[in-house]
Amino acid sequence: MRRIVTIGEIVVEVMATERGDGFLEPLSLVGPFPSGAPAIFIDQCGRLGQPCGMVGRVGDDDFGRLNLRRLAADGVDVSAVSVDPEAATGSAFVRYRPDGDRDFVFNIRRSANAGIALDAAARALVASADHVHVMGSSLFSPAVVAATEEAVATVKARGGTVSFDPNARRELLAAPGMRAALSGLLDRCDLFLPSGPELTLLTEVDTEEAAVGEILARGVGAVVVKRGAAGAEFHDASGRIAQPAFAVEEVDPTGAGDCFGGAFVTCWLRGMPPAEALRYAAAAGARAVTRRGPMEGASTFAELDAFLAAARV
Ligand code: ATP
Ligand code: MG
Repeated sequence: MRRIVTIGEIVVEVMATERGDGFLEPLSLVGPFPSGAPAIFIDQCGRLGQPCGMVGRVGDDDFGRLNLRRLAADGVDVSAVSVDPEAATGSAFVRYRPDGDRDFVFNIRRSANAGIALDAAARALVASADHVHVMGSSLFSPAVVAATEEAVATVKARGGTVSFDPNARRELLAAPGMRAALSGLLDRCDLFLPSGPELTLLTEVDTEEAAVGEILARGVGAVVVKRGAAGAEFHDASGRIAQPAFAVEEVDPTGAGDCFGGAFVTCWLRGMPPAEALRYAAAAGARAVTRRGPMEGASTFAELDAFLAAARV
């Protein structure tokens, strides 16, 4: 089986139990939950039984230990997650607004995540990988961009593949050199996994339909567009396949895109036809939103099969 690696932030997430605006008064909070977009993605791959590992850095604290324990328990190789003796594990506080928007307080750039680098353990993991998944949100420093580019080059040089989820935050794109870095990653990926509005983020054209055409023409093998409760679609040279979202009660949408991505990439690497991979991915995304906590709703194949059998669509 093909081994997947990813590089990036590991954080705990702490969320407000009630909706509202921001964090300017005392609130009831729940957490810490293991989190970080690439960590959620790779945890989903691990739960599906795919060989996988992560390059990251946590603090020598319980926030770090709870992430390491969860990833390891779900089958993720954490030998390349280093422990910073001084800096604390990253964190994200989140509160949902009444309209579904979110307010965040992040501590990522100045947490243990700041020290992410390809050390000997990380190079050994990357050297054993057949696929690298890149999360745009992880490219928060020149050091992580360099580590990611080296991993992509290493994996591609040995005939491996690359997937790229821009997971873009506005402030990220404004950073010097970031647009060029993201654009370069788009050109080198085999699978591009944007949310709908991210389709046009890095293209010359400004309509979503034209953007899909431009991205495929740039040499990307396939584009998988995520549209939340409106579903997803797959595009490649042979056409388009639509996948409606499964009807579920949404408790917490955070992590849906990462679980969807982890499931899609796992199925794609196993050689499943795109329609089948999409169905599993949509089931993984749907199950993810039914649980509070970004990684709590990641699924095994047995859980996805049971969900799909009950859904009958
Ligand atoms: P984010 O904006 O948090 O980065 P994303 O754009 O990466 O998210 P989404 O589109 O929110 O990812 O979710 C990925 C997939 O998960 C969707 O395409 C859909 O299949 C499934 N999904 C998401 N939300 C729901 C929902 N409320 N009900 C059913 N399925 C959902
Ligand atoms: Mg996303």
